[in-house]
Amino acid sequence: SSAPPLFLSQAADLTIERNTAGKPKPDPASLVFGKQFSDHMLTIYWSEKEGWKVPQIKPFQNLSLHPATSALHYSIELFEGMKAFRGVDNHIRLFRPNLNMERMHRTADRSCLPLFDKVELLECIRKLVEVDQEWVPYSLDASLYIRPTYIGIEPSLGVSRASQALLFCIVGPVGPYFTTGAFSPVSLLADPSYVRAWRGGVGAYKMGGNYGPTISVQNEAIKQGCQQVLWLYGEQEEITEVGTMNLFIYWTNEGGERELLTPPLDGIILPGVTRQSLLDLAREWGEFKVTERTMGMKELLGALHSGKITEVFGAGTACVVCPVGSLLYKGKTYQIPTMQNGPDLAKRFHKELTDMQYGRKQSEWAPLV
Ligand code: PMP
Repeated sequence: SSAPPLFLSQAADLTIERNTAGKPKPDPASLVFGKQFSDHMLTIYWSEKEGWKVPQIKPFQNLSLHPATSALHYSIELFEGMKAFRGVDNHIRLFRPNLNMERMHRTADRSCLPLFDKVELLECIRKLVEVDQEWVPYSLDASLYIRPTYIGIEPSLGVSRASQALLFCIVGPVGPYFTTGAFSPVSLLADPSYVRAWRGGVGAYKMGGNYGPTISVQNEAIKQGCQQVLWLYGEQEEITEVGTMNLFIYWTNEGGERELLTPPLDGIILPGVTRQSLLDLAREWGEFKVTERTMGMKELLGALHSGKITEVFGAGTACVVCPVGSLLYKGKTYQIPTMQNGPDLAKRFHKELTDMQYGRKQSEWAPLV
């Protein structure tokens, strides 16, 4: 994109209009994902004519948009999902937020939205979290969800690059993913007639357009008694992702080696921050083989049948890791012994990441706000 970047002065120039009518904070135990929002929001407007306006933190409020707004007609929309955690020391930390900024930047480029300075944007988001710091739950299993969003707001119907854009960020407290406190496994519907993303498409980008069409498939999974969708792709019925999580398999491979396997970033996989973190940790440990390669349903079911699969789990910001307990494929349910095997590896990953997030273990991955 030829658009000028967000200049380095931008985060320093940020203006803050305090909300004088703050809402009461909800009880962390009663939180429903994505329904509660804090008292402030960040907005940064851009236009081809004037470039970037000064970033503003202001009271949480509705947007006013022209009915022809390109985001509403052509899904010129992208977002991120990250969290802030209140640690055992009462300090607030983010988790590898630079990876979210990089993914957002790549998605903006693919969306023909003006590129921004990743460091400056993160600083604006950090300031928003600071202003709303009391909204970061005083809890060691809740957190503040951060939703940076970027939309084209071109007020015309031509299918073309937006000449006006709005980058905004809202935040809100979210509770633990596993309400009981203990891991509970999910059941998956694996139906090759549904496709989330395809090679040459935009599955590797966090665009709103990738998510809306998954809702009816998720509903179909529920209808068939499953909790989430295992997304398959192509002739080989490659296993790709689980719901909105990356997929991991811990098993004994054809060569008899212990191996952690996840699908490669070949364009149909969202490059998850959690995925990257699990790969980085496992490679650092060096205790088993770590492989990024495709695996088809046939191979997975074969390995399952011969008892080679130890754990299958999803990985994402929402839950860190989420064990998979069964698969419904072509009318047959296949049990996966993830829970029977601890799940030792999933639990270890969960502990390692949450220890960093909640300040029990100091790490460069979890910078202070
Ligand atoms: N896959 C998809 C399709 C997702 O939407 C997400 C959530 N961003 C993930 C994987 C996990 O990514 P992350 O670890 O960055 O949350």
